[in-house]
Amino acid sequence: MNKNLSYGVISVCILLTSFFVYRSMSGSGNTGLNAIDPDSIIWVKCKTSTCQAAQEMGEREFLEAVQANASPGQRRGGPGLLCDQCGKMRLYKAQKCPEAECLAVFFYGSAQNDYPDRCPKCKVSQTEKSRKERRSRSAEE
Ligand SMILES: [Zn+2]
Ligand SMILES: [Zn+2]
Repeated sequence: MNKNLSYGVISVCILLTSFFVYRSMSGSGNTGLNAIDPDSIIWVKCKTSTCQAAQEMGEREFLEAVQANASPGQRRGGPGLLCDQCGKMRLYKAQKCPEAECLAVFFYGSAQNDYPDRCPKCKVSQTEKSRKERRSRSAEE
């Protein structure tokens, strides 16, 4: 093998490796906002029992607003976002039930001692569902 060529290959490998190491190190220092896909959409829901307005919003937009709302030093459990339906700071991240018949928007972990993703409306948990499907598939084999 040509000596110059093999040196070239090695130095390219070293360059690539240090590039990726540098990237992963500088990435970990970030607060994470930049790691979020700007197109990512989440569901938010109002915790006021008489309101319960649900809407879609950009995940980045949501996290930016949460960070702006939180008082310094407060890490979690801060106030929710302003709900424009009832005017209270009670808008929190929620999730939408993917069952076509249901499509309820609910809070993750609302059921205790149960799968956190169980939908309070149709009682389907996607975790439980996929586990059951996996089990029945392995039983058929
Ligand atoms: Zn509301
Ligand atoms: Zn449901």
